[in-house]
Amino acid sequence: MGKRKRIGKTLATVMGPVLIVSMLGACSGEEKAQTAAADTTQTAKTTDAAGQGTDRETAAASNFKAGTYTGKAEGKEGEIAVEVDMSEPAKIDDIRIVGQSETGGIGAKALEQVRQQILDNQTLTVDAVSGASESSSGLLAAVEDAVTQAGGDVTAFKSGAVTKAGEGKTEQLQADVIVVGAGASGTSAAVAAADKGAKVILLEKTATIGGASNLSWAGKFFNSSAALENGLKVDEEAAIKEWIENNHWRVDAADIRQYVAQSGETYDWLSEKGYKTTFINFAGEQLHMLPAYETREDTLRAMLKDSVEKTGGQVLTETTAKSLTTDDSGAVTGVVAEKVDGTTLEITGKSIVMATGGYAANAEMVKESFGFEGVNGGLGQNVGEGLEMSWAAGAAVPDNFGGQMLHQTLARATEHLKKQYDSFEASYPLMVGYLPNFMNVGQSGARFRDEAATLEAVAAANTSAFNGPYHLVVVSQSQLDALTKQGMNGVKAPSLPGMPPEFYADFADRFKLDTPWKNAQNVFDDMVANGDGYKGATIAELAKNAGMDESVFTQAFNDYRAAIQSGVDTEFGKNKAYLTPMGDSGPYYAVIAEINNLGSVGGLVVNTRFQVLNDDRVPVSGLYAVGLESEGVLFNDTYVGNGVGVGYSFTSGRLGGSDAAEAALGK
Ligand SMILES: Cc1cc2nc3c(=O)[nH]c(=O)nc-3n(C[C@H](O)[C@H](O)[C@H](O)COP(=O)(O)OP(=O)(O)OC[C@H]3O[C@@H](n4cnc5c(N)ncnc54)[C@H](O)[C@@H]3O)c2cc1C
Repeated sequence: MGKRKRIGKTLATVMGPVLIVSMLGACSGEEKAQTAAADTTQTAKTTDAAGQGTDRETAAASNFKAGTYTGKAEGKEGEIAVEVDMSEPAKIDDIRIVGQSETGGIGAKALEQVRQQILDNQTLTVDAVSGASESSSGLLAAVEDAVTQAGGDVTAFKSGAVTKAGEGKTEQLQADVIVVGAGASGTSAAVAAADKGAKVILLEKTATIGGASNLSWAGKFFNSSAALENGLKVDEEAAIKEWIENNHWRVDAADIRQYVAQSGETYDWLSEKGYKTTFINFAGEQLHMLPAYETREDTLRAMLKDSVEKTGGQVLTETTAKSLTTDDSGAVTGVVAEKVDGTTLEITGKSIVMATGGYAANAEMVKESFGFEGVNGGLGQNVGEGLEMSWAAGAAVPDNFGGQMLHQTLARATEHLKKQYDSFEASYPLMVGYLPNFMNVGQSGARFRDEAATLEAVAAANTSAFNGPYHLVVVSQSQLDALTKQGMNGVKAPSLPGMPPEFYADFADRFKLDTPWKNAQNVFDDMVANGDGYKGATIAELAKNAGMDESVFTQAFNDYRAAIQSGVDTEFGKNKAYLTPMGDSGPYYAVIAEINNLGSVGGLVVNTRFQVLNDDRVPVSGLYAVGLESEGVLFNDTYVGNGVGVGYSFTSGRLGGSDAAEAALGK
């Protein structure tokens, strides 16, 4: 499949711009300068408490001053501020994180881990923590800012490397079932296998259990007991037929049938184990909201404790699977993995379950397989390692490889605007992307859909992706004025933007159709000033500024205006209620709406026992796959199912783990 991008080697490259900014900036925070360093470059050996050390040129430049410096840089969720104590000769004595808003759990843990590694190894070349690369690089950049202010030689600090205590060491382990990846699918597989009596080793690259399910909203469990109790029963045969037809029959009908028929039991299985989901009738769809975000990981850990750990198995976090081992017959016999301290694990097992969540964070692989360069809204650590090692062990690359879970559009403007405005105001460009009342055009300027597609998240993202990684939402001055005065009622929005609840959680009180969009003019002008959108006094100027083809956009605009006037959209048949007038003159704005990819779909072909198949569609002995990596059997090249991501991950894990255990135990 060509060359694959590898991430997380060093963070040196991402720190350049911060360095330049900080070198120009004045010393901030409390500075207790003591003595000027000698005007020479010295050689020093730094040694940490564990006796690990690294020889390097000292980081003392001629103007180095020992003291305490405050460094700042952007993390994933906002600014990270650190106080760094530095002593002669340019040694980092302590780092205190005095400000940060990184995601609780993984982000905060990553900051502590990187902080300790900088201190122990006296280096600014530290590997990003898996799953928290932006938090890791933010902390490194903040410390670099402080070191620069002290006059430290950043280049020298980057020449040292982290010494890993386990490097060169190898440990041997043995299990009946080895599960790789602890998202919803891997955790369920490990629990189900242990419940069958198998000794299980679960490997997880990050420090977190739960993967993308920890970020998700709801799952689909067909005809669960809760759905039936609430009076919503679906016709399973009709659902299966429609599903297969919608995917043009290029799917595995037996796998679809199994999911539809058996996912209901997953609801009860999870409930019995303490992972309680809540049924909702979502316009006729049987969705089940996942437990409160902050409780999920603990619940999954408790499930593992009661099963895997109780039966003599192990849950090894911060342990990355690197390759599979095979015997002379080609059967998969184990996993080679690496612990965070560098120790190599050679684990033998009878059944190996791949549950590594795909490759959405591997931009090159997504581009190569799908032709798309959108935003990765999935987990940063999912770079396709599980697929690569399975293919190397003989698994087939599916004919429909490349499917993605395109589920939302995002305004490029939001991140910058959140630094200037409160969440509600910063989300104006995001919200217009979810309303059917605005003209949408592709990058050429051509209109490409009935904008009512925005009322369905999946349809919206997929129609947009058909045109490229982003589209433009055109907002006229008169529409902006109407929003400013009367909120979304001003443009006759039929309903609130259909965004996931977490998008508006921190402005739920103002998320109403009649809340005036105060400051909208400034927000849109700042969006343009920030380079995250476009403005033109005329249609021609907007086309020029946004890089659209002027004649294509002018034609599209004139056609759309004619549709507004006549109430008949001959091109796309948009309901006239959404053909909101745009006024007679500019200026006009174009919001950049990018597609958010929540995950890749597929990569391994499985049968109904979740055995991975080879090019002859025969099982690769010993190898199983669950979750996203096996989900290509349900979809063609595009994910279309609300709640299927979560529903299938738990269900395939529950069933596949059990199958893998039965095979391992000879049942
Ligand atoms: C923001 C967001 C919101 C979503 N909302 C919904 C929703 O509301 N409803 C829905 O149905 N779906 C939703 N989804 C999709 C759904 O969450 C996923 O389809 C599902 O959780 C995937 O589960 P998984 O176990 O297959 O993979 P993951 O959850 O990705 O788990 C894979 C695990 O493998 C680990 N791993 C990766 N490589 C290695 C390696 N080499 N060695 C060891 N471990 C490794 C990863 O660290 C990760 O923990 C959402 C996804 C995202 C990102």
